[in-house]
Amino acid sequence: MKEHRINFRAAKSFNETAALENLVANASINKELREKISQRGIELVERIRERDDTGMMELFLSEYGLSTDEGVALMCLAEALLRVPDDKTIDALIEDKIAPSEWGKHLGQSHSSLVNASTWALFVTGKVLDDDKSSGMAAIMRGAIKRVGEPVIREAVTRLMKVLGQQFVLGETIEKAMKRAGGMEQKGFTYSYDMLGEAACTKQDAQQYFLSYSDSITEIAKAKLSDDIRENPGISIKLSALHPRYETLNKQRVMDELVPRATSLAILAKSAGIGLNIDAEEAGRLDLSLDVIEAVLSNPDLKNWDGFGVVVQAYNRRASYVLQWIYDLAERLDRKVMVRLVKGAYWDTEIKHAQVEGYQDFPVFTQKAATDVSYICCAKMLLEMTDRIYPQFATHNAHTVASILEMGEDKSKYEFQRLHGMGEALHDTVFERQGTRCRIYAPVGAHKDLLAYLVRRLLENGANSSFVNQIVDESIPPSAVAWRMSYATPMSPESIPLRANCKSQSGAPR
Ligand SMILES: Cc1cc2nc3c(=O)[nH]c(=O)nc-3n(C[C@H](O)[C@H](O)[C@H](O)COP(=O)(O)OP(=O)(O)OC[C@H]3O[C@@H](n4cnc5c(N)ncnc54)[C@H](O)[C@@H]3O)c2cc1C
Repeated sequence: MKEHRINFRAAKSFNETAALENLVANASINKELREKISQRGIELVERIRERDDTGMMELFLSEYGLSTDEGVALMCLAEALLRVPDDKTIDALIEDKIAPSEWGKHLGQSHSSLVNASTWALFVTGKVLDDDKSSGMAAIMRGAIKRVGEPVIREAVTRLMKVLGQQFVLGETIEKAMKRAGGMEQKGFTYSYDMLGEAACTKQDAQQYFLSYSDSITEIAKAKLSDDIRENPGISIKLSALHPRYETLNKQRVMDELVPRATSLAILAKSAGIGLNIDAEEAGRLDLSLDVIEAVLSNPDLKNWDGFGVVVQAYNRRASYVLQWIYDLAERLDRKVMVRLVKGAYWDTEIKHAQVEGYQDFPVFTQKAATDVSYICCAKMLLEMTDRIYPQFATHNAHTVASILEMGEDKSKYEFQRLHGMGEALHDTVFERQGTRCRIYAPVGAHKDLLAYLVRRLLENGANSSFVNQIVDESIPPSAVAWRMSYATPMSPESIPLRANCKSQSGAPR
C-alpha cells in the first residue's frame, strides 16, 4: 500500500484536538493573514446586506431556523409529506405538525412577501386544525371547516412544500434544467448537474441511475463551449447510486461491478469534453471510495483528461490526508484532477451513526469552528497543489470565501462553487468584483426524488450556527458573522457524548 494511504488509515485514531493541531501546524496561517481574511469577510457581509436580492430560501430559513419549533415542524413535514401515499395519513401528519406550533409569532416578520404569505397560510391552517376542546359556536365552526377543508389544506401544505423544494431544483429533466441554466451561463457562470436520487436499493435502481447519468452526459455535451474543461458544464455522480451494495463488506463486488460502471461514465464524459465529479458521501464509505477512485482513474483510456473530479469533506478529521493521497495519485498517474472542497452535508447522520454503533470516536469534527478551520487549512494545501489539482471551493460562507480570495492570488487557478438556490448574493458579489469563476451545482429531477437532498439543505442551513442563517439576521453585526477564528488555539476536546439518544445539531430528532 502506498505511503499516503497508510497515513490516511493511521489518522483514523486521531482525536479532535490532535487532528486540529496537526492541521493548524501544517497550514501556518499567520496573524496578519487572519486579520486580512476577517476584514475581507466583514466587507463581503456588508456588501451582501446592501444588496436587495437575498434569496427566498435564505429568508425562509432565517424565519424558520431549526432552533424554532415551527422550523423543526416544517422540516419533519418536508421529510415525510412528499412520500406519504394516502390522504388520511397526510391529513394526520399535517395536523400533527402544523396545529401545535405558534405560527402567529412569525406573522409579518420576514422581508419576503412570499415568506410572509406562507406564514399566513400556516397560521390559518394551524388555527383551523387546532384541536380546541372548548365547546360553543366557534369550536363547532372550526370542526366544520376542518372537515370540509381537509382536501384544500392538504393541497395547500403539499404545494408549500413543493415551493420549498423548487428553490433547490433547477428542472425536472436535464433538458429543462439546461434551458433554465442559460440565463446564468450568459452572465458567465457554469454548471455541474446532479441527477437527484440517492443510494440505489436494487440492481434495477442502479441500472436506472446509470442510464440517467449516461443520457445526461450526452445531453450536457451539447453545451460544451471550449476545449478547456473549466469553461464547460459538468456532471456530479454518486457512487452509492451505481451499486446497491456499495459497502466495505462487499468490496470485491464493488470493485468488480461498480468500478466498470463508473469508468464507462468517466470515459463518456471524457469523450463529451465535460468534467465528471464523484460526490462525497458517508464517512464509513470513504476508504472504499478511494479504492474505487484509484481504480477508475488508473484506466489508461482516461489518460490526458483533466476532467475527473473528487469531492473532499473538510469536516472529516482525515480530510488533509485524503488531499495528500489524491495529489500523490495524480502525480503517479501523470494526471490533473479537480478537487471540490466542501464542509460536508451528512453531519447529523455521522454523529448519530457513531453514537448508535458505539464507536470510540467520531469521524467528523464536533464543533462548527473546527470544520471551518479544517476547510481553510485544506484550502491552503490545495492552493499549493495546483500543478496537479484544480481546486473548486464550494461554500456559501463569506468568511470562507474571503480566506480563499486572500490565499489564492492567481484566480485563474481555481473556481468557486455554490448550490442552485443558495448563496446567490455572495457569489454574484465575488463574481462581479473579483472576476473569479463560479460553477453552480444544480440538482435535476422530480419532486419525489428531492427529499433526502432537501432535508440535508434544511439541516445544514436551518442550524443557527450556519452562515446562511446568520447573514439575513441584521441584528448580528458583520464582524460576528464573519467572526475571527482562532487558528492558533485548537478547540477544546469533543463536546458531544458518544452515546445514542442524543439530539442532533438542529435539535431535531432523527
Ligand atoms: C457545489 C457544491 C457541491 C457539494 N457537494 C457535496 C458532496 O459531494 N458531499 C457533501 O457531503 N456535501 C456537499 N456539498 C454540501 C456542503 O457540504 C454544504 O453545503 C456545506 O457544508 C455548507 O457549508 P458552508 O460553508 O456553505 O456553510 P457554513 O454555514 O459555514 O457551514 C455549515 C457546515 O458546517 C459543518 N458543521 C455544522 N455544525 C458542525 C459541528 N457542530 N461540528 C462540526 N462541523 C459542523 C457542516 O459541514 C455544515 O454543513 C456541496 C456543496 C456545494 C456548494
